[in-house]
Amino acid sequence: MSDVPSKPMPGGEAGSALDAVIVGAGFAGLYMLHRLRGLGFSARVYEAASGVGGTWFWNRYPGARCDVESMQYSYSFSAELEQEWQWSERYASQPEILRYLNHVAERFDLKRDIQFETRVTAATFDEIANRWTIQTDRGDRVSAKFCIMATGCLSAAKVPDFRALETFQGKWYRTGHWPHEGVDFTGQRVGVIGTGSSGIQSIPIIAGQASHLFVFQRTPNFSVPAHNGPLSPDVIQDWREHRAEYRHRDRTSAFGIHIEQNTKSALEVSSEERQSQYEKRWERGGFSLVGAFADLILNKEANDTAAEFVRSQIRAIVRDPAVAETLAPRDFPLATKRICVDTGYYATFNHDNVTLIDARATPIEEITATGLRTSKAEYTLDSIVFATGFDAMTGALCNIDIRGRAGAALKERWSGGPRTYLGIMVAGFPNLFTITGPGSPSVLSNMVLSIEQHVDWIADCLAYLREHRIANIEATVNAENEWGAHVNQVANFTLFPQANSWYMGANIPGKPRVFMPYIGGVGVYRQKCDEIAADGYEGFALSPPGS
Ligand SMILES: Cc1cc2nc3c(=O)[nH]c(=O)nc-3n(C[C@H](O)[C@H](O)[C@H](O)COP(=O)(O)OP(=O)(O)OC[C@H]3O[C@@H](n4cnc5c(N)ncnc54)[C@H](O)[C@@H]3O)c2cc1C
Repeated sequence: MSDVPSKPMPGGEAGSALDAVIVGAGFAGLYMLHRLRGLGFSARVYEAASGVGGTWFWNRYPGARCDVESMQYSYSFSAELEQEWQWSERYASQPEILRYLNHVAERFDLKRDIQFETRVTAATFDEIANRWTIQTDRGDRVSAKFCIMATGCLSAAKVPDFRALETFQGKWYRTGHWPHEGVDFTGQRVGVIGTGSSGIQSIPIIAGQASHLFVFQRTPNFSVPAHNGPLSPDVIQDWREHRAEYRHRDRTSAFGIHIEQNTKSALEVSSEERQSQYEKRWERGGFSLVGAFADLILNKEANDTAAEFVRSQIRAIVRDPAVAETLAPRDFPLATKRICVDTGYYATFNHDNVTLIDARATPIEEITATGLRTSKAEYTLDSIVFATGFDAMTGALCNIDIRGRAGAALKERWSGGPRTYLGIMVAGFPNLFTITGPGSPSVLSNMVLSIEQHVDWIADCLAYLREHRIANIEATVNAENEWGAHVNQVANFTLFPQANSWYMGANIPGKPRVFMPYIGGVGVYRQKCDEIAADGYEGFALSPPGS
């Protein structure tokens, strides 16, 4: 494998100089580049955006912040980086996370191998040369031994599919593609469509600016308070002293974050004890509610007690009982869609300038020149914000024309739902890796931790192949089938498949309903991946040069 340093040059023909092409420069692509460089591989990153950051480059909507606490939602690979970077808040805001990722890119001198404003359009495996040819929208055509997709699980923002959007005379925005200069809604009549995480984060802030805010909600979501605020020096000091211990704890946990897990069933305790557990965790904020009892995501009856607790909180916060009822989720068990973590969301509906519209009961029929029309009324709006989510997990991958052996297209291979081995590789697509791909814990976890685990596994794998003079690694169909069956089996053991969630592809018309992430736990999953590697990459076919 070559050691030739690669110099990003748009529209170039890079011949066979590269060991690896990495697509995407978010948390995953940046760390992947760093690891490969450290191993002496030549690598180039292609990134559609004009800067690093991925999610945190694109999602600049007001109120955007992480829902995993900052100290945990950060890289762990460099102790020095951890010691020198200081988060200012319990949940960092988008600008701060973007600053962090720029700091990382500069500190490790990563930008010189990243070609920005370049979208990868195709990746084709050449079975004779055993190499990938990668093409971009700027005319690049490069050859690389390995192709590593760091394209993100939530990077393909849904395009609004409302009738007559082009006739709207006002301005419209997507939370996942927010203008860099920001938007000032002061004095405007604004409509927000969608009440998932991005809607829930942005609604309180937009309400503070707009003369009137109309929130169009199709499905209410469960949201818990963040109780965000400045990080105290004690918390920072404690983390610095115990970082190794805390990181180990998170890596071996279920979701990659620290949740104090109660081992009791919600049904075995008295109603007073149950209430007190829920109240304690509501006060603590964030995801801790999910750990209140051991069976919340396993047993519907247990889950109902937690769901009813959240509904009672909504009724206590929201003064108008009819509005509170509309905001109360009833269609799916708590936590089977990612719980939202908010600052003042429910209280926003007490403001006179905020109106909630039940878009399930009175669907949006079309956008008009002056606003939008539901089945019941017409709304005059200056701006519309679409907080309508992503084509999750598979969207960014299927947007690229990826072709493996015999010209087979990944998109077609996945027409019945994604199939992978460990969420890392796909049978028939040798030397192609997917960081946090479907079939791995990914979106059900602290994603930075899951990204680091995949990147380390892939980097170690490439080093192993080089050391053992192996040309190709490829998931076997058998291993892929068995892993897919296991992912399903574990999911069906939980309440997750009961929700029409984006985990199931349910937010995209025509997308197959398959539970995509792996819910077995990040600790268990990591161990499995490590064992497979230690056993000489069990379930993968390894072929010597010339085969
Ligand atoms: C608003 C929001 C908040 C979130 N908060 C959290 C949180 O608190 N905790 C958590 O664990 N996760 C959170 N996530 C999930 C988040 O996506 C991950 O935590 C993490 O940032 C993903 O990093 P990544 O590098 O894998 O992907 P991304 O950050 O999505 O980066 C992928 C990059 O690939 C680029 N790309 C894609 N396709 C192509 C192509 N064909 N050619 C060139 N470039 C391409 C994209 O432009 C993008 O920059 C959040 C997501 C969103 C949208």
